[in-house]
Amino acid sequence: MAIHNICVFCGSNSGLDPAFSEKTVALGQYLAANDYQLVYGGGDHGLMGKVAKATMDAGGRVIGIIPHFLVARELAFKDVTTFIETRTMTERKEKMLHLADAFIVLPGGFGTFEEFLQMLSWSQMDIHQKPIALYNIDGFYDDLVAMLQKTADLGFAPEANLDLFINGHDLDEIFAGFHDFKHVLPPKYTN
Ligand code: AMP
Repeated sequence: MAIHNICVFCGSNSGLDPAFSEKTVALGQYLAANDYQLVYGGGDHGLMGKVAKATMDAGGRVIGIIPHFLVARELAFKDVTTFIETRTMTERKEKMLHLADAFIVLPGGFGTFEEFLQMLSWSQMDIHQKPIALYNIDGFYDDLVAMLQKTADLGFAPEANLDLFINGHDLDEIFAGFHDFKHVLPPKYTN
């Protein structure tokens, strides 16, 4: 499937490693330069604000999607191409899923993990067939990847389901992974 819209999940904080912000800005610039539209959670703070502003500043297109109750709390960034307010978090996530052709998960907090794991879980249930890439900047996601491997090793997920996400360390690896991605599901129960 051709990729036009890329949904980025990331922290509403920026994190303490300057590489997180640098790579986030570079991602926004890359999306704009390659005519991918950014879909994201509509926030103004942290890596969320940085990826949106970098994409807009570089002449790209951005869809921000945020529930009403977070507009004040996360300080919505409204200066985007399309700004959408939803009633609930669930409606937001469904809209993000509907619009996205692929997902990139930057470093972030609990909300980012929830978003990644929800999309991974929905992928293994065949609710969607879209590629998901962790952007594993400075090894931020090494422990999560190890936990997912352990989950397969101990029989709670088929080993093949580890191929439903890309563990990307740079943009070349992520976009090559998108290009090669095939959504293949083994039988759900292995034991
Ligand atoms: P965080 O990674 O915790 O900074 O959160 C990043 C994004 O995830 C923000 O847009 C939050 O609105 C969103 N988020 C936070 N908590 C949740 C949750 N329980 N479910 C889904 N998204 C969440």
